[in-house]
Amino acid sequence: MFGIVKRMMRERVRKRAFPESWRAILERNFAYYGVMDEPSRERLHGLIHIFLNEKRFEGVGGLKMTDEIRVTIAAQACVLMLGRDDITDFFPTLSSIIVYPERYVAPSKQMNPDGTVSEGMQGRLGESWLRGNVVLSWSDALAGGQDLRDGKNLVFHEFAHQLDGETGAVQGAPKLPAHKCYQAWASVLGSEFQQLRRAVQSGRPTLLNAYGATNPAEFFAVATETFFEKPVAMRREHPELYAKLAAYYSQDPAGCCDDCYGFNCPPAPGTTPGSVPGSITGTTPTSGSGSESDDGTSVAARR
Ligand SMILES: [Zn+2]
Repeated sequence: MFGIVKRMMRERVRKRAFPESWRAILERNFAYYGVMDEPSRERLHGLIHIFLNEKRFEGVGGLKMTDEIRVTIAAQACVLMLGRDDITDFFPTLSSIIVYPERYVAPSKQMNPDGTVSEGMQGRLGESWLRGNVVLSWSDALAGGQDLRDGKNLVFHEFAHQLDGETGAVQGAPKLPAHKCYQAWASVLGSEFQQLRRAVQSGRPTLLNAYGATNPAEFFAVATETFFEKPVAMRREHPELYAKLAAYYSQDPAGCCDDCYGFNCPPAPGTTPGSVPGSITGTTPTSGSGSESDDGTSVAARR
């Protein structure tokens, strides 16, 4: 019952007019918006309205919060939701986005291989907490939005952690349509994770950022960045992983060519998401938070 009411309220909010000034912000700051077709843009506008209506933004470290910051961050987060028909769940455990002007320093604890714990201060780009907050560096969130093709997007990364956490634990296995889906997910993502670890350990170049080898939760977040920013290469080099993410996100950003990102192109046979995704299980930490260090190393559990 509550879900129905919430969905009706969200449907009303998403139909609000989208200000021209917000469009201008997206055209300036979010390269992905530049390749989207108009129906997808309209859908994104509605999701941005819901996001801004429900989530609180707070500037810290001297940052004055503006529409420019809110809209730019909300748009990137909402790209992950573009393929969802059911908007009953909308980053359900997230209440606030805390934004620093740039990379920030925070206390960190790190488990050493010998079981001891090191404490200190560490520079970070962002972090995602299982309940409550996402923390972001604005300069890095903006840079990630403006560059569509480098495979790095801080907002995609942190909000992938939020989706991962919808199950109650951040472990590289987001909420899937049915219990039986997790086995296939674990098989594909588990194998790809191990493959990345081996490649990183042996110093081989990888399409996915080496940070994804930290643990399965980071692997899912890094794979999400690659999926949206280097989809054609991912489909070519990691077809099973691409298919799982395409099914999970109900999006096909590889589309028909290097430049289309799945917009304005006819659906090609075999590229439409159809299979059901599964999960990585049994190998990951389940603590409630993670943070991204600015040197790409793991701080706590994850970035
Ligand atoms: Zn992370």
